[in-house]
Amino acid sequence: MNTHRSGLIGQNRSVRFITALNIGPGSTPPPDGKMRENIRNSIYIIIMSLWRRKYFLVSGAIVWTVFYLYLHYTTVPEDNGYTSNGISVKHPIDIEFVNYNERINQQTSKLKSLTKATENENSKSSTKENVNQIDNADISKTMPSDHYKHMTHEEIRIHQMNEKLEKEKHKQKSIRDKYILQGIKPTSIVVKPKMKSSSDETEMPNYSTIVTTKEPLYIPPLRLVHFDLKGAPPKITYFKSIFPILKYAGANGILIEYEDTFPFWGPLAPISAGNAYTKKQIRYIVELAKNHDLIVIPLIQTFGHLEFVLKLPEFKHLREVEDIPQSVCPTNNATLVMVKLMIDQIMALHSDSQWLHIGCDEVYQLGHCSRCSRYDRNSLFLAYVRKVAKYVRENHNASPIIWDDMLRHTTVAEMEKYEIGRLVEPMAWTYVEDVYLFLPNSLWEKYSQVFPYIWTASAFKGAFGETLTIPDAKRHLENNKAWLAVMSENNVAFTGFRGIALTGWQRYDHFASLCELLPASLPSLLLNLLTVSQGHFDNEIFPKMQELLECSSRAHYHLDLEHDPSMWRALGVCFFPGSAVFRVTLRHNEVAKSLDKFIADITTHKGWMTEYNINHNFSSPLRVNELLRDFSYYNSSLNMLQEAAVKALREVYDDDTVSEWIELNIYPYTKKMKAIWEQGMRLKKYQVWPRRPLPRLIDLPTPPSIDMGIVTS
Ligand SMILES: [Zn+2]
Repeated sequence: MNTHRSGLIGQNRSVRFITALNIGPGSTPPPDGKMRENIRNSIYIIIMSLWRRKYFLVSGAIVWTVFYLYLHYTTVPEDNGYTSNGISVKHPIDIEFVNYNERINQQTSKLKSLTKATENENSKSSTKENVNQIDNADISKTMPSDHYKHMTHEEIRIHQMNEKLEKEKHKQKSIRDKYILQGIKPTSIVVKPKMKSSSDETEMPNYSTIVTTKEPLYIPPLRLVHFDLKGAPPKITYFKSIFPILKYAGANGILIEYEDTFPFWGPLAPISAGNAYTKKQIRYIVELAKNHDLIVIPLIQTFGHLEFVLKLPEFKHLREVEDIPQSVCPTNNATLVMVKLMIDQIMALHSDSQWLHIGCDEVYQLGHCSRCSRYDRNSLFLAYVRKVAKYVRENHNASPIIWDDMLRHTTVAEMEKYEIGRLVEPMAWTYVEDVYLFLPNSLWEKYSQVFPYIWTASAFKGAFGETLTIPDAKRHLENNKAWLAVMSENNVAFTGFRGIALTGWQRYDHFASLCELLPASLPSLLLNLLTVSQGHFDNEIFPKMQELLECSSRAHYHLDLEHDPSMWRALGVCFFPGSAVFRVTLRHNEVAKSLDKFIADITTHKGWMTEYNINHNFSSPLRVNELLRDFSYYNSSLNMLQEAAVKALREVYDDDTVSEWIELNIYPYTKKMKAIWEQGMRLKKYQVWPRRPLPRLIDLPTPPSIDMGIVTS
C-alpha cells in the first residue's frame, strides 16, 4: 500500500519536472538552439520558484544560524571548564567562582570518565550478581570486609569512584604526605575492645597526640568534633570528604547528635524526620569514622531539649509542663520507658561505643507538675539522671556523659547521695572567651571532689548568634585557648580530663532556625582543632590550615582575626570540601548589606515610597521612577546570589536543607524587593490625586475639652 502511494508521488514529481523541461513521450526531440532555450527557461523557472519561497528560505537560514551559534556558545568542552557566559565578572569572589568551577568541572569530567569505565566494566558482566562481585572485589581491597555489606549498589559505585579519584590524587604529591613530612604526625588512636565490666575506670586508653616542636600548654587526650545533625544534616559523602581532614588536624573522635535524624523504629518511629538517615547510612558513618581512627560517641537527649519528641501528639503526655514541649516529667513512669527505648535504639547502632552522651542540659521545667512539685529541683534532677545513667551502664556497658550546667548549683552532698560521681562523667561547657566567668574555681573544686573524670566542651560555631551564616573565628579561638589554660590549671585536681569536644551547633534548639552551616565553619573548626591538638596557638597554625583547606597562592594571604574574624579574606581562595558554601556566605553578606541600604533608602530615608505614601496611594510618579532606577541591578544581584547558593549548598545538602537556608537568608529580600516593585508600579498608575488632608487611617482619641474661660453666649 505504502509502496504504491510513494510510487504515485514519485511519478507526479517526475511529470512536473519533465513538463518544465518541455520534453515528454509525445513531443519530438527539439533542435540544439531550442534545447538551450529550454534549459534557460528551466533555470529561470527554478530561480523564480526559489524567489517565491525567499522568505521561507531566509527564515530557515536564520533559524539554522541561530541554532548553530547557540550550540557553539553554550556547549563548553569539559576540559575548558566554566566560561562566564558573557556576564561581566566584577566582584573578586566571582573570579574565585570561575576558578572553583574550573576545578569542579575537571573533577566532574574525571568522575564521568570513571563512571564510563565502571559502566563498561559492568556491561561486560550480564547478571546483577556478577556486577556485585566485581564491585565488591574492588572495594574489599580498600575497606574492611564487613563494610560494604551495608551499602547499596549506588553507594558502592560512588565509593569505588571516590577511591579511584583518591588514588589519582595520591599519584601527585599528597598534601597530607607533605604535612607528615613537615613533622606533623596524624593522631593514632587505639580503641580498646569493650570489657564486660566497666570497673577498670582508672585505666586511660592509649591516645598519642600530635607532635609539635614547641611546648604545648595542654593537649586534651581526646579531641572530639561535635556534629549537631538536628539541622542541615550533610550528605553521607560529605562526612567521607571531611573525616580525613579532621583526622590530620588532630581530631581523634566525633560526638554525634542525631536528634530527629536518627532512624528510630517501632513505637518511636514518629520521632524521625522525613529526611532522617537510614540505619545503613549510620553504620556507614560509624565505619567511616573508625577507618579514620575517630572514636564515635553518640549523643541522645534524655531530659531537657526533648522538643523533637515532646512536640508530637504521641508523646505530649510526657511533658513536665503541658504547653511547653521542652522537658520530660522525671516522675512519670512512661517517661523512662520511652527514654530507655531511645537509648536501646541508639546503642543498637553504636554497640562499640565506650561512652554515651545523655544530654541533660538546660532542663528548664523541673518540679512543675503536681507530682514533681513535692520534691526539690536538685533531687528531682539527680534522681532521674541516676536512673538513666544506671540503665546505660548496666544494659549497654557504656559510661554516660552529661552536660554539666544542671550540676553547677548542686552540692557535693547531693551529688554523693545519688552516686552521681560514680555514674556519670560531666562535660563542662561554655563558649565564652572567659571560661572562669561561668565555671569559677569554686566549681572546679566541687567537681574534683565528686568526679574522677571530666570532659570539657568549647565551640567552633553556633554560639554567638542564632541566625549567623559564618562563625566569628576570633571569639571561638579565644574560647578554645581559654579552655586549654583552664584544663592545664585544673588537670591535677582530677584523675584526668578525658578530652574536649569542639561543639558546632546547627540550631539553638529544635524549633530554632539554622545558624552557621558546617562547610562555612570548617575553617573555624580547623583553626580551633589544630590549636587544641597541639596545645597552643601559634604562627604555624595558619599555614597548616592553608594546606588542609587546599588554598592556593598561600603566601599572599595572612591570618588577621582582628579585621577578618570570618576568615573570608584569609581563606577566600581555598578549595576544601564545601568551600563554595563558605564563599557564598561572603557573597550573601555583601549582597545583603547593599540590599538593606537600597531598601531602607526607598522605604524609609526617601520621602516618596514610605508606608504613608503607599497606604494613601499618594506619590510623585517622577520621584518613584527615580527611586526604582537601580531596581533591576539590585534584583539581579539577588537572583544571582540565590543561583550560586543553590549550586553550592547542593554539593553538601539535600534540597530540604538548601530550601531552608535560602528561605531564611535570601527569600526575605526576594519578598521585600517584589513588594517594592509592585508598590512602585501601583503608585505610578495614578493620574490625579485627592485634595489634602488625606483620609486618616488611625483613630485619634477625642481631644480633651479645655475650658478657656471664654463665655459663648
Ligand atoms: Zn513531673
